Amino acid sequence: MRSTTEKPALRSAEDFADAKYLQPVLEDDALLFSVDDILLLAQNEQSQDSRKSEAVDPSHGVQRKVQELEEELANLQAQFASYRNAVSTTLDERWASSESTTKTAPSTSSSSTSSRGARAPASTAADPPSLHSAPVRDDDTHYFDSYAYNDIHETMLKDSIRTDAYRDFIYAHKPLFKDATVLDIGCGTSILSMFAAKAGAKQVFAVDNSNIISKAKEIVATNQLGDTIKLVRGKVEDVALPWPSEPTLRAAQPSTERATEAQTTTPKVDIIISEWMGYGLLYESMLDSVITARNTHLNPQTGIMVPSHCTLHIAPLSCADFIADSIGFWDDVYGFDMRPMTEKIADDVIVRSFGVEDVASEESARFRTLDLRTIEVTDLEWGGKRGGGGADGQANSQIDANAGAFSVTLARDLPSGLDAWGIWFDTFFLPTRTADLPSDARAETWPTNDDARGNAFTTGPGGKETHWRAAMLLVDPKSKAARRAKEAGGFRKGDVVEGNVAYRKAEDNSRALEIEVIWAVAGREEETRAEQTWFLR
Ligand code: SAH
Repeated sequence: MRSTTEKPALRSAEDFADAKYLQPVLEDDALLFSVDDILLLAQNEQSQDSRKSEAVDPSHGVQRKVQELEEELANLQAQFASYRNAVSTTLDERWASSESTTKTAPSTSSSSTSSRGARAPASTAADPPSLHSAPVRDDDTHYFDSYAYNDIHETMLKDSIRTDAYRDFIYAHKPLFKDATVLDIGCGTSILSMFAAKAGAKQVFAVDNSNIISKAKEIVATNQLGDTIKLVRGKVEDVALPWPSEPTLRAAQPSTERATEAQTTTPKVDIIISEWMGYGLLYESMLDSVITARNTHLNPQTGIMVPSHCTLHIAPLSCADFIADSIGFWDDVYGFDMRPMTEKIADDVIVRSFGVEDVASEESARFRTLDLRTIEVTDLEWGGKRGGGGADGQANSQIDANAGAFSVTLARDLPSGLDAWGIWFDTFFLPTRTADLPSDARAETWPTNDDARGNAFTTGPGGKETHWRAAMLLVDPKSKAARRAKEAGGFRKGDVVEGNVAYRKAEDNSRALEIEVIWAVAGREEETRAEQTWFLR
């Protein structure tokens, strides 16, 4: 009510009851209409209308009911959708936080693998789970993302042991590359493709599934190699190579092979180059992709793999300084006993170099040879106490249980037992398809850039450190076996330690590894037998 000139005496509720006070000052003053009144009015009108129409046609009542139910259903659907959304958001957040926890967890291996970056842990699930189905595992997204940035490529390119070995082999064997068609698997910055192009390759297909390929495209263009190098983004196992419409075969190919080739519809490459090696050699599982691509794209009669072979080596380690620094350190930290920190210290592979002075045997043992011209994906897991079984203990006929055997002779007494096992790999570049790698071949003593024997490099203690460093497997000093061996006087110079190294893909991530070693001193198996599994994740 607006003020009036005449001020009535209003003292009680009864005074207000008089209708004279309900006279509006403004005509149709909106404040005089409450929303409820309006709704009531509208409802009355509606129900009068509908009663009228129902009286004319009873099916109107049913229609109204149907309409009401439809509205109710739409309402419920909307509510359910928003509920689903809320649940999904909560799950997303949970997954994101559990993922970041995994990545930042202070595991010995994750902290020590980080400097290779991309050759580093792959997440087990990059995609949030769907509400309707079990979460789809994704071992790729994080992996390829980790190769998208400069630092990892800088690290690899600056590893001169690695990069020189590829360059020297390619430049020292120009006749092999002259007019060849080359497939570079995982080209990264395209360095190997450019070496091949400079060595005279007619055509290079450079494939990478990481964003780094956009840089590679610029690099190839900047270096005016775009006519020779064709870059393809994608997983090498999935992509089609951009062959020119009428592939011209290498002049060097014998005519019978040319005829066979001409009959097939898919042309083949002459050479595959790839730098696929990870920590402990097989971490990342990139070799699986290389093998698949080799089976599809490499000329089966004349094709060359660069590199052609890798060998895996093991040696017992006695490294008191490292043990004191990494385990003993926790005994007394600023006067506090922090030994709980050592609880799982021997669970993960430590990616770390060690010197020849740490090796406690006369020689290391080669426990596995990978001939990259013939090896298959099923050969990339082997050995183990489960008699060829997988990580679940189930028999797996594809796993070679007897592979991975080794024997080393101790060069010194180890009264308190073995500190660790050290594992590393050698890489060989043989320039022919047919030559076999001698069983005693060592990269340290392999001639470099020899016309017939090619080239080689080691990641072991006998060579200069590479960005792969080596794999150190700490023997758990608290294990029963370690204590038993120590009580029995430890190991003695001249003891022959025999054992077996098993490699398996981790159950929850095909790019991660489980390495198991079983060992015992020949003739003293009872007191010295031990086995331990380490994770590289
Ligand atoms: N050849 C480069 C990079 C080597 S690192 C160099 O020598 O410097 C390995 C590269 O392979 C990474 O860039 C990674 O993204 C790529 N890669 C790994 N698996 C692949 C696959 N299945 N298909 C395509 N690229 C792959």
